[in-house]
Amino acid sequence: IETTMQHGDMRIADLVEYSRRVFPEAKIVTWTGEGTREATFAQIGDQAAQIANALAGLGVAEGDRVATFMWNNNEHQAVYAGVPSMGAILHTLNLRLSPEQAVFIINHADDKVIFVDATVAGMLSQYLTGTPNVQHVVVCNGPADAITAPEGVTVHTYDDLLAGQPTTYAWPELDENTAAVMCYTSGTTGDPKGVVYSHRSIYLHSTMVTTTMGMGLSNADSMLAIVPMFHVMSWGIPYAAMMAGATLIMPDRFLQPEPLLAMMAETRPTLAAAVPTIWQGVSALLDAKPQDITHLRSVVVGGAAVPPSMIKKFDGYGVTIVHAWGMTETSPLGSVAHPPAGLTDEDEIFSYRVTQGRFPAMVRARIIGDDGVEQPWDGESRGELEVAGPWITASYFQPDGNVTDPGKFDDGWLRTGDVVTVTPNGFMTIVDRAKDIIKTGGEWISSVELENVIASNPAIVEATVIGVPDAKWDERPFVLAVVRSEDDADVDAHKAYLAERLPKWQIPERWSFVTEVPKTSVGKFDKKRVRQSYAEGDYT
Ligand code: ADP
Repeated sequence: IETTMQHGDMRIADLVEYSRRVFPEAKIVTWTGEGTREATFAQIGDQAAQIANALAGLGVAEGDRVATFMWNNNEHQAVYAGVPSMGAILHTLNLRLSPEQAVFIINHADDKVIFVDATVAGMLSQYLTGTPNVQHVVVCNGPADAITAPEGVTVHTYDDLLAGQPTTYAWPELDENTAAVMCYTSGTTGDPKGVVYSHRSIYLHSTMVTTTMGMGLSNADSMLAIVPMFHVMSWGIPYAAMMAGATLIMPDRFLQPEPLLAMMAETRPTLAAAVPTIWQGVSALLDAKPQDITHLRSVVVGGAAVPPSMIKKFDGYGVTIVHAWGMTETSPLGSVAHPPAGLTDEDEIFSYRVTQGRFPAMVRARIIGDDGVEQPWDGESRGELEVAGPWITASYFQPDGNVTDPGKFDDGWLRTGDVVTVTPNGFMTIVDRAKDIIKTGGEWISSVELENVIASNPAIVEATVIGVPDAKWDERPFVLAVVRSEDDADVDAHKAYLAERLPKWQIPERWSFVTEVPKTSVGKFDKKRVRQSYAEGDYT
């Protein structure tokens, strides 16, 4: 027999119209440096339609790429809503790329229009001489002359572009598999690669963000979205907020600990999301200048391993860190660490919270060992994590046809490059990125585990570990660390601390103390640069 159910295409336009109609109380709130400016979901819906009408007037057609070079703010949310709804493709450009990478990506994606925040327009002006196919630039939150454009590029301001445009648009009845948003990987490990999300994948992913397996984002929440809208769609939060009617607090360019804590004091969010290095900075400031942050029912932390000591630290502030794992290729939510029900023992609960968590129903996962054989979920067997599902990419974008290079795909599964174990009840732990594992005298050291133990010492502000060549042992760990005070730059003291916690052969003898560990464009420790600098003899 056949199903009696209707088919309904899942479209972003439906999310936009839904949020506009049923959540008049939900808002996007952007920090201005001193206070806030707000737009209701109804106003965002109006602006989305105005953007679509204006872009159609400029000749933007279905499938054309419209980029953003923007912070998290009201206007960015409206562009998120309007561009895919009209059938064009939103391309979120990373604000912290090198000029070469930015020019490469703009040309590779063939962006026709770019929305830019005035505060970063100077940077974009430099790129535009190398991007001949860009036809229009729309300056947000500032004057048109913030941009210096070459001939052939028309400059608009956001307000002028929208002025007089109708606040409705006859959204096209797109097939749900139509491309909606594209995002390039941050390029930590090679040239940035393009991933193209569909209306369907975003819709399904948004649903997950609102469930208790995801972030449980609801109408009762206001969420501080620190993770940039160019870093995997701010982890799916802007679209999920339309589904749940959650208020979003947008930090704009104010991403340092001081303004983040000031905006928290004023807006009292119930949720927040950011990579560990952001919380590291917030925590250091909280210790120096205590502030009540218990309005946060939890903070979602991922993108890099969260040290257990950080989870403990936030428990001390009365705030629960929820650890999550994902990639640009996985939309990004791949797993979230909510401990199983029924536990009462705090240590046991903690042992689940430090893992990368369980996979939601729509993410299939398997472990493939070095020998290519699937490994059991026994909490011990290791191998590369492979994932599959409706919001996991099946290829990388290329203008002349998407590619599935065998290093990244395996018979329809995405190879994550992460080495993991999974417990019988489905909790995944990332042992390391395959290329970061350190092999010393025939034994493996997990750089993640070593970093966690090093970071548990209160004298350490932040630390990363790489494997470096060693004549006797092939490779040995090298630690690059930032310490609390000059007195803490004491290798013997650090080794003594580790000696109580690690086997002797794992204890690093090479250390260097710096004022900051290099970070990638999305705020992760940049091991590629640390390796380069080490090879060039910069750390003595
Ligand atoms: P890039 O690979 O360019 O940095 P992504 O932001 O997509 O771009 O990074 C995905 C990778 O980040 C994952 O494959 C994994 O190695 C790492 N990662 C993400 N979340 C976590 C986490 N919670 N714990 C450990 N590693 C993580």
